[in-house]
Amino acid sequence: MASPHHIESSVNNDNIKVSFEFFPPKNGKMEEQLWESVVKLAPFNPEYVSVTYGAGGSTKEPTLNTIKRIIDSNEVDINPAAHLTCVEASKEEVHNVVQEFRDAGVKHFVALRGDPSSGIGTKYQPHPDGYENAAALVRGLRDISDCEISVSAYPEKHPESPDFMTDLDMLKRKVDNGATRAITQFFFNNDDFERYVERARKAGIYIPIVPGILPIHNFTQVQKFAAMCGTSIPDWLVRRFDGLEDEPEVRSMVASAIATEQVVDLANRGFEEFHFYTMNRARLVFAVCQMLGLNQNGNSNGDENRNAA
Ligand code: FAD
Repeated sequence: MASPHHIESSVNNDNIKVSFEFFPPKNGKMEEQLWESVVKLAPFNPEYVSVTYGAGGSTKEPTLNTIKRIIDSNEVDINPAAHLTCVEASKEEVHNVVQEFRDAGVKHFVALRGDPSSGIGTKYQPHPDGYENAAALVRGLRDISDCEISVSAYPEKHPESPDFMTDLDMLKRKVDNGATRAITQFFFNNDDFERYVERARKAGIYIPIVPGILPIHNFTQVQKFAAMCGTSIPDWLVRRFDGLEDEPEVRSMVASAIATEQVVDLANRGFEEFHFYTMNRARLVFAVCQMLGLNQNGNSNGDENRNAA
């Protein structure tokens, strides 16, 4: 595990950029938790915070309301990005949603196909008047707006992709149609990510490919989710949570150490942009960003601190 000294001396935090992902709340209590997290993480000066969008438009209102709150807030000064899916929607319905988000002030979309409502792993059926995949959605979005468009990427390939070439081919089509940034599915093996980026560059994909980092709040849930979306769980990760079932404090410490270690290792490999899946909780992401020295509220003058101590 990298020591704090190692982090300070080897990561140039001037170049590090972060973004945070939230999901729309289902009730007032969840909204409170979401907003507390947004405010708590704001001092890390994110490039943007993104809000996910339920398949088939199931979260349109809460996603839009969350975005509006971010835009209208006097508490935070952050650019929002709206996720958008095209599953089970006609092109016209998608365009109407885009217009509503644009009217609210959105200038950045994360454009996704989305999972079938019958469940991850079941066959995707495009809407008869809709976009057939994310590449088509990106083209449609580009035609109707000059927004920033981010898309998904899969370092271990998407479960539906028969091989890496098919997967990279889809990413290339999204880029050719106007995507300007790719954000990856979460992963725990940095070698997989680095290899994927190398493959993408060889395939002529030159947009930033931003690693998606998932700090682990609940290891059992993460294992289940990873199995569905094709993320592998290395043995060393299982061992680190082994025997901690009744140790919530220690689990949290271990989780923040793991995420910090992952980000520092990626930074040491030259990656400078990180997208955090917050799960609407600030604690672990806060700890990681703090360890990276990104807190704008802190006293940045280390010498003064040392002299005063
Ligand atoms: P695409 O880019 O269209 O396809 C993904 C991959 O599947 C491609 O690489 C391609 O090779 C393969 N593929 C697609 N179709 C076929 C086919 N017919 N045959 C063979 N291979 C095929 N989901 C939500 O519902 N809401 C969200 O807000 C959301 N946000 C996300 C954010 C990020 C950063 C990521 C990584 C995922 C997100 N997802 C979200 C999940 C996403 O919707 C699913 O992973 C979905 O299954 C694929 O959507 P996509 O845009 O990646 O699809």
